[in-house]
Amino acid sequence: MTPWVILLLLANPVVVRDETLKPVQLGLILEAEDRLNPETRAWFRSETERILKPLPVSIGWRSLERYDRRESFDRIIVLRLKGDCVWPDSEFSPERPLGFTHVTSGAVLPYVELDCLSIQRTLLSKLEPSVVRRSRMLGIGLGRVTAHEIYHVLSGSTAHAASGVAKRAFSREDLFRSDVGLDASSIELIRKRISAERPLLLETTEP
Ligand SMILES: [Zn+2]
Repeated sequence: MTPWVILLLLANPVVVRDETLKPVQLGLILEAEDRLNPETRAWFRSETERILKPLPVSIGWRSLERYDRRESFDRIIVLRLKGDCVWPDSEFSPERPLGFTHVTSGAVLPYVELDCLSIQRTLLSKLEPSVVRRSRMLGIGLGRVTAHEIYHVLSGSTAHAASGVAKRAFSREDLFRSDVGLDASSIELIRKRISAERPLLLETTEP
């Protein structure tokens, strides 16, 4: 960041609320996406995009296996699916986190793990008979957990919000509700972080 920009931010904090922020090109690189059926994958993507819509980000979904490394994004987050992404016939395993983001020495890394089995266990009982409904709910659950982890990556924070997608834990009701999104404080935290990083991003994208 140049001294000029620092001065500008100090003199005019309104800059960080600038609604005209150029969107950050965010590449979401999904590992082993073939493990999700097409319906689940479609719901997963649309739910993630719905929740991230208030943010100045433009999302590009890519498969890790087919990703062309010459393609560039401002930010890349790798998403890895853990556990069984097909509805299991057996008993559910003991409780595990729905997802987590890697943190090293306090720094949030752009590497997210999503636990299909834990998400399914939280969503519905194994007696749910409708394949269509299971696929949709798993996709929505994956989208909400992904949005939560992306909140950590884009804000650079390991803290949690009091409500919304960025709160510490999801209940079954949280995953079922239709209006779940990022709360205002989480959106503001990410916008500030993106604003602060913007000169850095512009340097790499505009010669
Ligand atoms: Zn969290």
